[in-house]
Amino acid sequence: MTSTHAFWLAGRQATGEDSFDVTNPWDGRLVGTVSVPTDAQIEEAVAAAHAVREEFAATPAHVRAAALDHVVRRLVERTEEIAQLISAENGKPIKWARGEVGRAVSVFRFAAEEARRFNGGDAQRLDTDAGGTGRLGLTRRFPRGAVLGIAPFNFPLNLSAHKVAPAIAVGAPIILKPAPATPISSLILGELLAETDLPAGSWSVLTVPNDRMPALVQDERLPVISFTGSGPVGYSIMESVPRKHCTLELGGNGAAVVLGDYASEKDLDWAATRIATFSNYQGGQSCISVQRVIADASVYDRLVPKIVAAVEAQVTGDPSDATTDVGPLVNEDAAKRVESWVDEAVQAGAQLLTGGKRDGATYAPTVLAELPDNVTLSCEEVFGPVLSVQKVDGEAEAFAAVNSSKYGLQAGVFTHDLQTAFRAHRALEVGGVIIGDVPSYRADQMPYGGAKQSGVGREGVRYAMDDYTYERVLVLTGL
Ligand code: NAD
Repeated sequence: MTSTHAFWLAGRQATGEDSFDVTNPWDGRLVGTVSVPTDAQIEEAVAAAHAVREEFAATPAHVRAAALDHVVRRLVERTEEIAQLISAENGKPIKWARGEVGRAVSVFRFAAEEARRFNGGDAQRLDTDAGGTGRLGLTRRFPRGAVLGIAPFNFPLNLSAHKVAPAIAVGAPIILKPAPATPISSLILGELLAETDLPAGSWSVLTVPNDRMPALVQDERLPVISFTGSGPVGYSIMESVPRKHCTLELGGNGAAVVLGDYASEKDLDWAATRIATFSNYQGGQSCISVQRVIADASVYDRLVPKIVAAVEAQVTGDPSDATTDVGPLVNEDAAKRVESWVDEAVQAGAQLLTGGKRDGATYAPTVLAELPDNVTLSCEEVFGPVLSVQKVDGEAEAFAAVNSSKYGLQAGVFTHDLQTAFRAHRALEVGGVIIGDVPSYRADQMPYGGAKQSGVGREGVRYAMDDYTYERVLVLTGL
């Protein structure tokens, strides 16, 4: 069954003159047809967001929190339907799609909780200098203005939730722009928002084609841009609007380090299972997938066969099947790109331990060893189900290998040693260090974002709320 989806313009459904199809990358089936806003409709949404900004910022916290609570309840009620939709438009295995809806529920729940306590304020005595005698400073945080949230295809609901929920929590109008491959789950989110009492202009979900995005990005009535996606697009946006407040959540090539103290059979089984699962979940299309395994020489020979076995145990196939671990990539071109990178690496001397095959849009879970430094796979984010294993001598060499990347999103370190954990925290140039697990762990309330070329700024509900607002001081005189 297919349907045509309207977009959301200032809180109401609208259709434009053009439309585009969204297809299931597994079987090419039409998932839905999505209407595209005209320039006049985009202008209407931006003008509405700008006009409502003061009213929305002044909306009582209990009203905004109640709206967020409503979305929580409705996402829970509609979990299965939305998970099926995410799986269809993205090709994500249904078990991971259900997990994604659960994550979005958490994001809206955290936002409702934070909306109730957010103030961001402080009282500061100013009479510590003679000129401040009789004065008191009070700070509060106020929205910077309307937010343009640009979301990627790989977690189409949850990463949209990370844009929308914090905006509502602080009273900042938001225009959400979903990825063209996966807009329908964001349009369903619009259905839930439309059931709330939020002011009409305070939110829109606009399915704007990429070639018409520069005008929206440039619009001065949208002073905040929260972007999640690839580095080239993210940096080009930021460079085109140097005076705007931009948050960039970009790519990575996550490393999992396995150190010499992590050496029992149980330890290595756990590490191998986690590595295999999280280099392949979402077909490796997660910014914190495991792309690199950096193992101490003392455990390497026992660890690698376990990883290969665990990777080979990943079930590849139809994403709608509950037993499937790895579905197709977002489209066949993506799988062909991954194939060409693996082929390049093998021709340059890398050893293929398993995988290395493509079937349409599906790429087999793949493990490589002895990856040369200068091939694309060593330098770039593969965004596919491919990992490489590398042998190192000791902690210092392992940490240097992690830091040799231009990316720095998250790193996982398998160790039992508390001192090592603290050294890793200090040494690794990443936004998050996960001890005892893969880099792919993310809780939606924690600060999340990159160092180096993995991004600028932090998401995680409370951190995005800080980002969407700025501190304004009130000075009281004559006290
Ligand atoms: P992408 O950069 O191709 O697209 C991201 C979004 O930007 C989409 O909505 C797209 O339509 C839009 N876009 C494209 N051109 C634009 C332009 N000129 N102006 C404004 N917007 C434009 O990324 P993608 O393929 O959808 O997502 C994959 C990438 O996202 C990977 O690199 C991945 O690592 C990254 N990612 C990062 C995080 C994180 O939190 N750090 C999370 C998920 C994905």
